[in-house]
Amino acid sequence: MTMTPLMPVYPRCGVRPVRGEGCYLISEDGSRYLDMAAGIAVNALGHGHPHLVKAIAEQAATLMHVSNLYGSPQGEALAERIVANSFADTVFFTNSGTEAVECAIKTARRYHYAAGNPQRTTIITFNNAFHGRTMGAISATNQPKMRDGFEPLLPGFAYAPFNDLDAALALIDDTTAGFMVETIQGEGGVSVGTPEFITGLRKACDEHGLLLILDEVQCGYGRTGKMWAYEHYGIEPDIMSVAKGIGGGFPLGACLATEKAASGMVIGTHGSTYGGNPLAMAAGQAVLDVMLADGFLARVETMGERLRGALEQMIPNHDQIFDSVRGKGLMLGLKLKAGVEPREFVAHARDNHGLLLVAAGENVVRMLPPLVIEDAHVSECIDKLSAAARVFVPASDD
Ligand code: PLP
Repeated sequence: MTMTPLMPVYPRCGVRPVRGEGCYLISEDGSRYLDMAAGIAVNALGHGHPHLVKAIAEQAATLMHVSNLYGSPQGEALAERIVANSFADTVFFTNSGTEAVECAIKTARRYHYAAGNPQRTTIITFNNAFHGRTMGAISATNQPKMRDGFEPLLPGFAYAPFNDLDAALALIDDTTAGFMVETIQGEGGVSVGTPEFITGLRKACDEHGLLLILDEVQCGYGRTGKMWAYEHYGIEPDIMSVAKGIGGGFPLGACLATEKAASGMVIGTHGSTYGGNPLAMAAGQAVLDVMLADGFLARVETMGERLRGALEQMIPNHDQIFDSVRGKGLMLGLKLKAGVEPREFVAHARDNHGLLLVAAGENVVRMLPPLVIEDAHVSECIDKLSAAARVFVPASDD
């Protein structure tokens, strides 16, 4: 009997990784790929980091799952460390970024409901955002590609252009619950929120009694050289979704909130059978051990500057292909010249030069390498990008 897969798994891609070693992936046929994608910002410590591997193996042998019926000392311990290193007073663990986003939306709405303002349900989100693929998350995401054919979507969202503070403020009315925004848009094209925009949203929330929800699933957790991207702006959110890097490769997400913002969430209003399982918590602890070690985040910042500098130096040599660099820390986007298609460039770099990148919106290819990247990887990345640019011929219209 033949089985039809539920979904084709990236049929365009010939790479089938079977092993990871630090900043490299090795495929079935033994080819090595420089991994500048890190599972889309997930493998923060690279592949096979000994501290993470040991922690997962030890926890697997001790206790994997109990559900939330009995409480979890492992979950409490990780939550306490996250609280100590963020704006948050409360942490709800999930298994993915999308679930963290769903939890954030529910937390915001319940806050207003419990405060006697049940009409405050609308979350204002931003064009080009990506918040996940559940019905709630695609309703929050104003991209036809994500939404078409899945209607009816959920009501209770309004949309403004990213980085346009006036447009966002103009949408506020007495049904508004708050804003949900990626501090740095990832899928949308590595667009950094301007200081005026992010701090302006915070100010508007304070003035109107609204909640600021940051989606730092991609840009949070050390990626920008600070623990959280919001630290670059001198503000704090009320609620925040986190995932990807937090588990270092193990499925783990979290919704963080202040005590006030979480005050509407009482036992039974939200839950997850697997969320906070001891295995995920052990992975989270191990990642955090490394992330909080002396000098780790400063090194991410330094390596981000070096990669950025090297990319900027390279661009003039290939100015028919590359336009400019954007992003923060080790969340960088290389904007391609009009007519150079990011997915084609990514496929070419992968198949011919052993370099793994990720395409994004706004004609950008993303670089989201493991945070443990070294100078030799930066040089190798530049060599491979240059080689890819030399022979890469943009598709012509005729
Ligand atoms: N939010 C943002 C900003 C993301 O970049 C993503 C995934 O790329 C998500 C949410 C969804 O996360 P997940 O794929 O873990 O559900």
